[in-house]
Amino acid sequence: SNDEGPKGEDILRSNLLNLAYRQGPEMPTLKYGFADSHFICFPYETRRTGIYAAGSVRMPMDAASSIEDATGAAMKAIQCTELSALGSALHPRVGDLSFPDFAMSRCTQCKRCTVECPFGAINEDDKFNPLPNPTRCRRCGICMGACPERIISFKNYAVPMIGNMIKAIEVPDEDEEKPRIVIFACENDAIPAIDMAGINHLKYNAWVRVIPVRCLGSMNIVWIADTMSQGIDGILLLGCKHGDDYQCHFIKGSELAETRLSKVSETLNRLDLESDRVRMEQISIMDYDKIPAILDGFAERLEELGPNPYKGF
Ligand code: SF4
Ligand code: SF4
Repeated sequence: SNDEGPKGEDILRSNLLNLAYRQGPEMPTLKYGFADSHFICFPYETRRTGIYAAGSVRMPMDAASSIEDATGAAMKAIQCTELSALGSALHPRVGDLSFPDFAMSRCTQCKRCTVECPFGAINEDDKFNPLPNPTRCRRCGICMGACPERIISFKNYAVPMIGNMIKAIEVPDEDEEKPRIVIFACENDAIPAIDMAGINHLKYNAWVRVIPVRCLGSMNIVWIADTMSQGIDGILLLGCKHGDDYQCHFIKGSELAETRLSKVSETLNRLDLESDRVRMEQISIMDYDKIPAILDGFAERLEELGPNPYKGF
C-alpha cells in the first residue's frame, strides 16, 4: 500500500523475494498483480525461472483448490531441479542443452539483449557488458534476434544458420510468373498448425517455403534483408498471439517481432521495396484451418505488387 490507499497490485505483490535481477526484485505481474505466465500452456511457470506460482498467487482460488494447485507447482519445481542438474532447458524447450554464447569482443554494450530477455536471464556489469545467467535461460533465442551486432548464437541455432537456409531456397525467375514466399514460423504453434493443416488434407499454396524458428522474437532483422536481397517476393512471419491475452510461449517474443517489423517497414519503403512484402500473422494451433486463406491472401497481394525488383541481381 501507499499513502493514497492500497492498489490491487500493491496488495498482491509479495515484496519478499528480493531477487537479484536487473528488472527488479519481484516477479513480473499482470494487470491485477498475478504472476505473469503462459496461462494456457505453462500456468505454473513464472518469468523467473525456478519460481512457480500456485493458488491465489496465480489466479483467484479458494483454499481447497489452492492446496491441489500447489501440488502441480511442486511437480514443476521437481522437474526444474532435475532438468537443471542435467543442464537442460525447462519448458517449452525441455531437453535442449544449448546455451546462448556471446562473442563479447564485438559487443557494443547496447543493452538490447539485457532489456529484451523476457526472463531477466541477462544482467549487466557497471560498464553495461551483458552477464548471462545460464540457469535462468529458457533458450528462446530472443537475445539472438535482438542483437544488432549478431554476436549471440547457440550451437544448434544461429543467425548464419538460418541465413544459409534462406540461401538454399530456390527462387523462380521473373518470367516463371510465380512468387516465392518464405514463412518464418514459430515452432510452438505455427509449425504444429501447418502440420495440422497437412494432416487434415487441407490444400495450401505451393509457393511457400517454411523455415522454423524457436520463437518469432528470435528473428534477427538481417534475415529479412537476406531474404529480400535474394529476390524472394514475400515474407510471412507466423507467430503466436500477443497482447493482454498473449499465447507466446516466451511471453514477449511475438510482440517484440512486431516492434522490430515496424522498424523494418520504413527501411523497405526507403529501398523501394513495398512494406507489404513482409506480413505478420498471429495464429494458434486451433486456427490451422485458416492457413490456406492466410497464404492465398498474401499470395494475391504479392501478385498485385509484382516480382521483387531485386530478383536476378
Ligand atoms: S535465450 Fe531467451 S531466456 Fe536465454 S538469455 Fe536469451 S533471451 Fe534470455
Ligand atoms: S545486444 Fe549484442 S551488442 Fe548489444 S549488449 Fe547484447 S550482446 Fe552486446
